[in-house]
Amino acid sequence: MNICVYGAASSLIDKSFVEAGEELGRKIAQRGMGLVFGGGRNGMMGAVARGVQEENGSILGISPSFFEESNAEISFQYCTEVIHTETMRERKRLLDEKSDAFIITPGGIGTFDEFFEILTLKQLGRHNKAICIYNINNYFDSVLNMMQVGVDQNFITNDCRCLYEVYNDVDTMLDYIEKYDPKDFDISQVKIR
Ligand code: AMP
Repeated sequence: MNICVYGAASSLIDKSFVEAGEELGRKIAQRGMGLVFGGGRNGMMGAVARGVQEENGSILGISPSFFEESNAEISFQYCTEVIHTETMRERKRLLDEKSDAFIITPGGIGTFDEFFEILTLKQLGRHNKAICIYNINNYFDSVLNMMQVGVDQNFITNDCRCLYEVYNDVDTMLDYIEKYDPKDFDISQVKIR
């Protein structure tokens, strides 16, 4: 089973996030799951990849080739496989295609973009894979509150809430992903409006 982990590229985040990311990576590998990620060396991306590497797990990094040329994001050097894409959109498409489940860890606009895209695609019935927010240090509380405002004011259907889960505990989150069976989740029952 391959898990896509989205998360910050920034190297300026507090070390408590980094440590939680490394722990997540170790636990992914210990369960025999593979990591699929954006290929960066810094921030949450690098932390999770380092954790997987410590446990000799499989790591697929997917990043656009212009990062290599521009040094926009420094690559993690120890991926077991790397795929270079031409565009960011192509990268996101492959991250989705190569993964059986998604974990969103704290990040910036790139991570928000990735979360909302994968959530929107699930709402539209384009996939029915597990989506988990790993709410380290309650980082996502404001985003989740904003989602509730959208539900309360009828911008977002209440059904949207069943498309993703929020966890503070890494083991419970990985248990959920392991047990999740897409066949049990009937995407056609989700009301878009
Ligand atoms: P961030 O959460 O902003 O630190 O970014 C996390 C990852 O998302 C990084 O690999 C970014 O390159 C990527 N990213 C940033 N902006 C976008 C975007 N508009 N679309 C897709 N990926 C993005």
